[in-house]
Amino acid sequence: MLKVISSTKELLDLRSTQRDPVGFVPTMGNLHAGHLSLLKSALEKFQIVYFSIFVNPKQFGPNEDFNRYPRTLEQDIKLIEKLLLEFKDKTVIVFAPQDPSEVFPQDDQQSITVTGLSEQLEGKIRPGHFAGVATVVYKLFKLIRPTKSYFGLKDYQQYLVIKQMVRDLALPIEIVGMPIVREESGLAMSSRNQYLSEEEKEQGLILFRTLKKVEEMINHSKNNLNQAKDFINITLKDNHWNYLIMVDAETLSVDIENSKKIAILGVYQLRTTRLLDNLQVEMA
Ligand code: AMP
Repeated sequence: MLKVISSTKELLDLRSTQRDPVGFVPTMGNLHAGHLSLLKSALEKFQIVYFSIFVNPKQFGPNEDFNRYPRTLEQDIKLIEKLLLEFKDKTVIVFAPQDPSEVFPQDDQQSITVTGLSEQLEGKIRPGHFAGVATVVYKLFKLIRPTKSYFGLKDYQQYLVIKQMVRDLALPIEIVGMPIVREESGLAMSSRNQYLSEEEKEQGLILFRTLKKVEEMINHSKNNLNQAKDFINITLKDNHWNYLIMVDAETLSVDIENSKKIAILGVYQLRTTRLLDNLQVEMA
């Protein structure tokens, strides 16, 4: 069964009638196979899954794409209905507030800030972004009270920030990180890929190919990462790269000598579209 609601009051009323644990998948909509993989995992585990579709103004900077971000609710609902055919006895509750004031009262004065993790990489390039993400996720967690919530590793730093928030605020929620879903070409699926021309999509493949090359170099000589470091330095001469970096997969520290797992994170920019991708390499 699918139920679509758009008001916070309706959400709270409905939730108060449910005793069983529920799963939760937060998104900004314009669904693709990446989002649906999160929903599928939640449905495999829970009888009732909440799925939010909300383009959160707090996580966009003043010159970013908030206004043109694709809003395709009808199409999204059809995709969820199609997936639900595989889960006939389950319920998905789509929370799709149309007006931001449904989630954030006007002139609200609360913000959740995860320091440290939020201040690097994406956080440096997009000041305030992770506070916007943490604030909306916290708010949705409070309203929905899920047992588990599902996040894509595609937004790796976001996944770490949310895990840190849950840990620091002792929220009784398990954060599940889900693998990146890719096009056949290797391009990580993203709602923003539709800003790209076919030619640019082809050009964007350099991102995944480069990450794979770095991964290969690390795997080739785990005790000496100099070859990978040199390769990264040469690659960064192409100024389409916002960054390409090897970090500790838990702390995002660049000190990776004793890391158990390394994350290779990269952002390649084509005009105003920033393509994000990453890979993890086990070092043990
Ligand atoms: P978004 O709607 O872009 O905010 O994404 C909502 C959730 O879907 C986030 O947890 C993302 O990390 C996840 N997600 C987005 N793209 C992918 C992908 N290609 N593979 C797996 N998860 C994804």
